[in-house]
Amino acid sequence: MFHDKKAFVFDLEGVFFAGDEVMPGGRELMRAIKARNLPHRFITNISRSTAAEIRAHMAGIGLDPGENLIVAALDRVGSFLRKNFGSGRAYVLGTDSLKRAVASGGFEILGPEEEERADVVLVGLDEDLTYRTLSAAARAVSRGARFVAMNPDVRLPSEDGSFSLGGGAIVASVRAAAGREPVFFGKPEPFLFEEALEELGVEAGHAVMVGDNLRTDIAGGEKVGMATVWVNRWGVIAGDPDVTADLEVKTLDELMPHLPGG
Ligand SMILES: [Mg+2]
Repeated sequence: MFHDKKAFVFDLEGVFFAGDEVMPGGRELMRAIKARNLPHRFITNISRSTAAEIRAHMAGIGLDPGENLIVAALDRVGSFLRKNFGSGRAYVLGTDSLKRAVASGGFEILGPEEEERADVVLVGLDEDLTYRTLSAAARAVSRGARFVAMNPDVRLPSEDGSFSLGGGAIVASVRAAAGREPVFFGKPEPFLFEEALEELGVEAGHAVMVGDNLRTDIAGGEKVGMATVWVNRWGVIAGDPDVTADLEVKTLDELMPHLPGG
């Protein structure tokens, strides 16, 4: 189906792996991409690990995504914030890695007792979230700090088909309490897609986005003008947008015949 396409962009989590589990067909697809010299990038909304950390995690479960091919939200968020908001003081709900990424963008990182000084509130996946830190974020946003969300992913799929709370669900809580809408950084917003396409040197219309998430991968890919493949592992989740991918597959094996060079 995509034999005229020049490049592929793949989501990682939920496509190639979930937690410590390699998805069925994940290894075979990774091998096929390399064997066919298919120009590609991996883009991920994961807001708790850098590309290097994700690569190390993947190596631990026998997947090798290659060097410098992962466009990771965490590595790019500092430059995104700097581009859009200059510099200042940031209150961050997220991992220490996320805080370091924001600091590297030139922002001073505030603690939860200093939230009234925040110029920007950034909300990502925060496994150490408490009532106190969540309340502080909502207060700062309510007071007028710029409200930036890493992504709208409300669920993190786990290997058994179940899920944990995603960063988007934390964002929803801040939004509800503060009564203000966030600016989103990750997929489905165009920033990460555009970074990947620019690195590939390919126009959106010549590229295919492959992902398991309708609201981020498929809606986002479509919005920037890419063809899309929905890896339908989990079905439609409440709140998913009404979008239809160009191709829907249940497993990665079904995607293989559609790859160029196949
Ligand atoms: Mg995914």
